[in-house]
Amino acid sequence: MKYEKWLKNKELEYLEDTLHFGGMNVIDLAERYGTPVYIINEQLLRKRYKELKSLLDNTYKKNEIHYAVKANSNLSVLSILNSEGASFDCSSVGEIHACFKAGIKPEKIFYTGNMFTNEDFKYAIENNVRINLDSVSQISRLARMYDGLDNKKQTFSVRFNPEFGAGHHPHTITGGRNIKFGILEEQMVEAYSLARELGFETFGTHMHIGSGIIDAQDYQKATEKYLSTITRVSETLGISFDFVDFGGGLGIPYRPDQDPLDLQAYNNIVIDQFKTLVNRGTIGEPTLKIEPGRYIAGEASVLITQINTIKNNGYKLFAGVNAGFNTLVRPTMYGSYHHIVPCVKTNGSNILSYDIVGPICESGDVLGKERGITELKEGDYLAVLDAGAYGFTMSSPYNSRPRPAEILINMGNSYLVRKAESYDDLLELQKIPDYLK
Ligand SMILES: *Cc1c(COP(=O)(O)O)cnc(C)c1O
Repeated sequence: MKYEKWLKNKELEYLEDTLHFGGMNVIDLAERYGTPVYIINEQLLRKRYKELKSLLDNTYKKNEIHYAVKANSNLSVLSILNSEGASFDCSSVGEIHACFKAGIKPEKIFYTGNMFTNEDFKYAIENNVRINLDSVSQISRLARMYDGLDNKKQTFSVRFNPEFGAGHHPHTITGGRNIKFGILEEQMVEAYSLARELGFETFGTHMHIGSGIIDAQDYQKATEKYLSTITRVSETLGISFDFVDFGGGLGIPYRPDQDPLDLQAYNNIVIDQFKTLVNRGTIGEPTLKIEPGRYIAGEASVLITQINTIKNNGYKLFAGVNAGFNTLVRPTMYGSYHHIVPCVKTNGSNILSYDIVGPICESGDVLGKERGITELKEGDYLAVLDAGAYGFTMSSPYNSRPRPAEILINMGNSYLVRKAESYDDLLELQKIPDYLK
């Protein structure tokens, strides 16, 4: 794919040599709101959601897309997707709480935690949020939590670990025998059988194999094993499923030489196989669910940062910026690539190699290594692309640097949707015991 088209797919383009995102001049936004700043593009969020929705609608009508809240839990992002009719996948009580704040109804939420506490269970039961278990031992513990409460037992489901995983980094591969998630094939019949004995009457299933999958083929083996395993559960126990959830993981093209995920291939590998199974009539007529986070939110934000220091130490050129791994941790934590572009396009032909580095006191604080860019100056703005998923949500106040603002852009307007933290915000919860004063 040509570079201009690759950018355009992310609603980025240079107009009169200035970078525009969703049609808006990012330098104007940087000057108005200060930097670093995350810019969230409402129309692109909606577009990515709709792409997936129409893919599913065209193949299997009875479907739900659960947006994975952990990718980007900004309340405006949740509200936008709620208005599109999305459902939500939460990994913690905190994320459920955020969904409620955004006006999302409990029946729209699915709680796939892991290492659940009884407090987690209690919160979910009392708030009518469906829980997706992660261990056989949790089944009887969950059943006991209903004792003394008036709430009716929800649809039972447990996460299946197909022992085939995929993802952009070992930390984000969630299928495999040595991996903490879900239960293995051998325990699946036992789990559903136990659940039925304990009074659960309706059933669903779940699998999520990893995050950042750009080759749809990576879903093949896991999908086959998932479908054959749930067929066995269904045939052995004579139960049908209300839903079959295939998890998320759909990747985005972070590198200019990557094409977007082939949605048609994803459809052929995952959805078609599921449809074939449903047509055989053994598992009932379940709702098809998927849980994309990155695919919907990733490309919908850019992070704008300003260069404060150009350093040539005689060996290497550094462009020092005001965003570091406190602002965006993916490059440091996973070695992830984020494409970084200047906000003003220079037409010079002299390409220099810069390490783009943040202000944190660690040598690992590198947003981009050896990037070929035309000459940069102190004061220039850079855009770090595809920062919308696992960007702000994984940021931290390390080095006592307040987290940046998030702004939303839509149809030529911009809105501050999260203020930048202040130094006082960072200290607000601390207390010095009297004897130390
Ligand atoms: C993280 C996660 C997702 C979303 O993953 P993406 O790669 O962002 O699509 C979906 N389901 C579960 C259970 C997850 O933990």
